[in-house]
Amino acid sequence: MHSTYFTPDHDTFRASVRRFVEQEVAPQADAWESERRIPRGIFRRMGELGFLGILHPPEVGGAGGDLFHAVAFLEELPRSRMGGFCAAVAVQQFMADRHIWAHGSEEQKRRWVVPSIEGRAVGALAVTEPDAGSDVAALRTRAERHDGGWRIEGAKTFITNGADGDFFTLAAKTAPDKGAAGISLFVVPADTPGVRVNRRLEKLGWHCCDTAELSFEDVRLPADALVGEEHAGFRYLMEGFQLERLCSAALAVGSALLCLEETLAYARDRKAFGRPLVKFQTMSHRLAELATVTEAARQLTLHAAWLLEHDHPAVRECSMAKLYATETAKRVADECLQCYGGYGLMEEYPAARFFRDARPHTIVAGTSEIMREIIARLMVG
Ligand SMILES: Cc1cc2nc3c(=O)[nH]c(=O)nc-3n(C[C@H](O)[C@H](O)[C@H](O)COP(=O)(O)OP(=O)(O)OC[C@H]3O[C@@H](n4cnc5c(N)ncnc54)[C@H](O)[C@@H]3O)c2cc1C
Repeated sequence: MHSTYFTPDHDTFRASVRRFVEQEVAPQADAWESERRIPRGIFRRMGELGFLGILHPPEVGGAGGDLFHAVAFLEELPRSRMGGFCAAVAVQQFMADRHIWAHGSEEQKRRWVVPSIEGRAVGALAVTEPDAGSDVAALRTRAERHDGGWRIEGAKTFITNGADGDFFTLAAKTAPDKGAAGISLFVVPADTPGVRVNRRLEKLGWHCCDTAELSFEDVRLPADALVGEEHAGFRYLMEGFQLERLCSAALAVGSALLCLEETLAYARDRKAFGRPLVKFQTMSHRLAELATVTEAARQLTLHAAWLLEHDHPAVRECSMAKLYATETAKRVADECLQCYGGYGLMEEYPAARFFRDARPHTIVAGTSEIMREIIARLMVG
């Protein structure tokens, strides 16, 4: 794990995250996956340990860390053996409250960011709609001025922490005729009348985390529910995309590293034709190839983190890191499953969950096609 990007302080932090995840989270994985739930207590515990405000300053209860603390944290989270736990925690910490922190009022920060750092409130970022996923500008949820406040009508889907969360950072159109320039962000308490969880969605992987379809019917919000400036929501979302992509890449790297580690241990242990699998060159070379592409994904991710940490826009590098790391994690999970033979398909072995939990990474936080489109546009103008 040694890397020039990490200081001894980052390494100490990483070790504390690993200890926590291995001792307090991973033993619960089978139960939480089958119950399709993450208990609230684990958010509070992470809040106590200072793991939910890594980038926030100590004045608001944060750890005052930098992006390499965040990357170390995200690389270790997959040791929970639950892609869904990783997603729920990453959304809570790096997506739902980032826009409120960056652009919200002092009162919004006090009411939502501080409790989410403490693990007392769980947040969700509600952007995607049934007819607007990759094309964010096409979203149709409407926010109109009403009685000195706001009235919201619309629907959202695929929202992580959507059913069990306490608040949504919601994107809505305040000027429907202006496309992307007519989007604003709002903070919406989940218990506001008119906010309804239509259903928890059953999905291929990430079983423990809730992914919900929501509707907003005649939802009345006070004037101060607007986050930052009216019509600036798309810009805020775009600014947040680089951190989202970096988080996604770091989680993908962490899950690929763990998947390889476990597969190597299995291939050392399992014998065929009188020898450990790892002694077959086809096996060892396959693992060597996967270790190489995982290392390349890691270095690209760390490079993107360095650029972002040093205030470079890093749109190209964050998009490349997201694309390459998530596609690599998908490949690693697939080829590692093959190394287990039939056992790879059995639920009592880790390969099956690695396989299904690697799959969402190339779709969420911007699909691989969209990452290629962004990189291509930057290349060809
Ligand atoms: C498990 C999970 C959790 C999620 N969590 C959240 C969340 O917390 N908050 C939230 O707001 N959203 C969330 N999402 C939504 C996610 O961000 C979207 O699914 C994603 O952006 C893709 O949108 P879509 O599903 O509507 O697909 P579409 O946009 O309909 O795309 C369908 C296909 O067309 C391709 N495509 C689309 N446009 C182009 C183009 N211009 N060029 C080339 N190909 C294109 C896509 O790459 C994809 O392959 C989540 C999704 C999942 C599955």
